[in-house]
Amino acid sequence: MMEIRIIVAGASGKMGQETIRLLSRTPHFRLVGATSRKHAGKEVGNVVGTPSFGVHFKADLAEVIDQVEADVLVDFTTPELGKRHIRLALESGIRPVMGTTGFTEQEIAELSQLCKDKQLGAIIAPNFAIGAVLMMDFAKRAARYLPHVEIIESHHDQKLDAPSGTSMKTAELIANSRKEVRQGHPDEVELREGARGAYYDGFRIHSIRLPGMVAHQEVLFGGTGQLLTIRHDSYNRESFMPGVQLATEKVMELSGLVYGLENILQL
Ligand code: NAP
Repeated sequence: MMEIRIIVAGASGKMGQETIRLLSRTPHFRLVGATSRKHAGKEVGNVVGTPSFGVHFKADLAEVIDQVEADVLVDFTTPELGKRHIRLALESGIRPVMGTTGFTEQEIAELSQLCKDKQLGAIIAPNFAIGAVLMMDFAKRAARYLPHVEIIESHHDQKLDAPSGTSMKTAELIANSRKEVRQGHPDEVELREGARGAYYDGFRIHSIRLPGMVAHQEVLFGGTGQLLTIRHDSYNRESFMPGVQLATEKVMELSGLVYGLENILQL
């Protein structure tokens, strides 16, 4: 397989370090640059605990891009910084693979145009866990036949937002594939506020936050005399790496922007 030269932004963060480990075990991936403010100047392998790459962290992506030839940028920084990095990469002829979230529809449209103008591939994937993407696809199909649904998502207790982005995306797919069904008894009363969870187009999303959890979701479909449960668990950040690998390989063949890993899987 052709060698791919990669810059990792946010490389000393939790996802960034996992990506560095992916690169160290993948023969056709070559790390050529990495950003971290905290570890600027240190050798990447020394910090992450992999064999040395001979690559040193730099604080700023522009500085890395100035000094090395790269094919792909893998970005696990922050939503704000990700938005700047994706443009910088495209302007420099580098194909971005973005793990950061928070892109608006308008930003996606603008970036799509920029990719077309530059004839460059780019992938933005709010969820790199292939199992989670499949869960969403299966749920979308099930909702056509079993329209009574509830979602239960569970995450670690340091997560700031609820419901999770994945549960909202699942809810949107379900809502688009069934007619609106207002579930539950019309005279239902919540004796404690929030008991029935967040309302979404006739159904409910429940969010659990507990230490020890990573990222989990169940989609329950109830029918007469039957229950279908579609469940996905991410037990650690390694669960995202097959998706990151696939996106890094695929982006080399694209000449436009792809939003969502589901669009590069054959579903
Ligand atoms: P993290 O451990 O906090 O890592 C983020 C890294 O970004 C930090 O280590 C930090 O390193 C760097 N950074 C650079 N500029 C920064 C700034 N202005 N403010 C804060 N940090 C800055 O977070 P993580 O858990 O690895 O997650 C990283 C991103 O990936 C998040 O946006 C998260 O939502 C996303 N994520 C995506 C997926 C997916 O499947 N798409 C899965 C998990 C997480 P320095 O301080 O050394 O620069």
